[in-house]
Amino acid sequence: MDDFPRSADVVIIGGGPAGTAALWAIERAAPGTKTVLIEQADRLGSGASTASLENFRTCWPAECLAAMMARSVDIFLHADETFGEEAAKSLAVKVRGYLFCAFTEHHAATLLADVDRLHSIGLTAIEYLDASEVAYRFGWVGPHVIAAKYDPTAGWLDSNGLIHAYAASVPSARILLGVPDVRLRIEGSRVTGVTMPDGEISAPRVVLAAGAGSVTVAKVSGLHLPLIVRPRQSFTTGWRHDPFPEDAPMLIGEAPFPHVRPEAQTGAIFGWEYTWCSRNFAAEYGTNPAHDALLEPAYPVSQFKDPRFPSLTLALLARQFRHTDGAGFADGRYLRGLHHNAGYYVYRDDSVAYRTDEQGAKQPYDSERAIIDAYPDVEGLVVSVAHVGHGIMSSPAAGEIAAAHVLGLPLPDPLYAEFGFAAPWVAYDEGVL
Ligand SMILES: Cc1cc2nc3c(=O)[nH]c(=O)nc-3n(C[C@H](O)[C@H](O)[C@H](O)COP(=O)(O)OP(=O)(O)OC[C@H]3O[C@@H](n4cnc5c(N)ncnc54)[C@H](O)[C@@H]3O)c2cc1C
Repeated sequence: MDDFPRSADVVIIGGGPAGTAALWAIERAAPGTKTVLIEQADRLGSGASTASLENFRTCWPAECLAAMMARSVDIFLHADETFGEEAAKSLAVKVRGYLFCAFTEHHAATLLADVDRLHSIGLTAIEYLDASEVAYRFGWVGPHVIAAKYDPTAGWLDSNGLIHAYAASVPSARILLGVPDVRLRIEGSRVTGVTMPDGEISAPRVVLAAGAGSVTVAKVSGLHLPLIVRPRQSFTTGWRHDPFPEDAPMLIGEAPFPHVRPEAQTGAIFGWEYTWCSRNFAAEYGTNPAHDALLEPAYPVSQFKDPRFPSLTLALLARQFRHTDGAGFADGRYLRGLHHNAGYYVYRDDSVAYRTDEQGAKQPYDSERAIIDAYPDVEGLVVSVAHVGHGIMSSPAAGEIAAAHVLGLPLPDPLYAEFGFAAPWVAYDEGVL
C-alpha cells in the first residue's frame, strides 16, 4: 500500500469470481487497459466461494442463464487456451454430471416437463431417465429412485484455481490485498475513482463486484443496491459410504433439494437451500421476512451456521434414499470430522425481481438472475452482483458482460440485457431447481 497506483483506467472492487473474471475479460477485450483490483481480505476469493460446492451445470431453463452457462462451461473446458498453459490443471474440471432424482411420480412428472423445456431451448444433451435407465446407469443409487433428469455436461472445478487463473492472466494488473473500507468517489453524476484509508485512486470507471460486501460499499458511498442476502451452508466430509463411487455425478434429491457429490477421493460435499429463519435475527439485523433474508450482510457469516445443518441434511438424504439402520447417508461416520461452512447468497430484492400479474399488481419472486449492468445515474459505475448460488459457474460470461458495460461495447449476446436493472422478470427464472 506504500506504492499503490494513483490512477487507473478501471478499478475493480472485490477479488472473488465476479471481480477477477471482470479483470480477465476487460484485459481480453481491451488489452493494455490499466486495471487495479482491490480486495479487502489478505487473499483473493475470500467471500462466498469459500463455502461453495464449486459445481457447474448447463441445464438452466431461463434462456439468458442457459446462454451464460453454455459460454462459461466452454471457457472451463478450454482453460489452457483461454488462460494459458497449466490453467486446466489448476481448474481441475471434472465433468461428472448432475443427477436430479425423483422418488415420487409427481416429481418424475416435473423432471419430465423440465427436460421438455430444456430441449425446446436447444439443451438436447439433458436426458430424462426412467427407472430402468437409472438402474442400468446408476444402479448404486438404489431402487427408490424411480426417474431422473440427467445433465451429462455438468461437473465441478477448483474455484480458487479459477480465481487465480483469471488474475494471473492479467500480469499488468495491480492487485491490492488487505484494503479495508474502500468507498466510491462520486462527483456530480459520475464516478471518479475510489478512496481508501491510505489514499485515493482516480479512475473514470469502477466495477463494484464485492459479493455481499457490495451492499455495504454502495451504502457508505451514498448509493443503494437493490439486494438481499441469505446465509447458506455446506459441509465437507472425509468419508463417503460404499457404493457411492468417486466418479458419481452430483445427486440432487426432491424438495427441499438436498444435494451431495463426491469430494476428493474418499469424501463428499453436501448442501441445500435450508430455510434460514430470518425472523430470529430481525431485532439485531434488518431482515426481509418475505424472502427470509437479511437486508445487509452481518459478519462473521459463521454466526449463522446452524449446528444441526449437517445431521439434518444427512437425515433428509437418508429419508429420500430410504437408507436406515446406519447404512448409506444414515451412516454415523459422515458426522466425524466434518467441515461446516457458510457464505452469503446475494439476490435481487423486490424492486428488481417481480412479475406483473393480470391485475397489474407486482408479484415479487426469488430471481436467479445476477445484476450485471451500468449503475443508473452514476456514469462510469458498473456492478456485477447478485450471483445467487451460481457465481462461480457463471463467472466467465459474467466477466464478459461486465467488460462490455465498462468498455462501451455491445453485449456478447442480446439475451444478456436480461441481467440489467430494468428487467424485473424473465420466463423460467423461478424455482429453477
Ligand atoms: C453454500 C454455498 C454453496 C455454493 N455453491 C455454488 C456452486 O456449487 N456453484 C457456483 O457456481 N456457485 C456456488 N455458490 C455461489 C458462489 O459462491 C457465489 O455466487 C460467488 O462466490 C459470488 O461471487 P462474487 O465474486 O460475486 O462474491 P464473493 O465470492 O463473495 O467474493 C467477493 C469478494 O469481494 C471481497 N470484498 C467484500 N467486500 C469488500 C470490500 N468492501 N472491499 C474489497 N473487497 C471486498 C470479498 O472478500 C471477496 O473476496 C455457493 C455459495 C454458497 C454460500
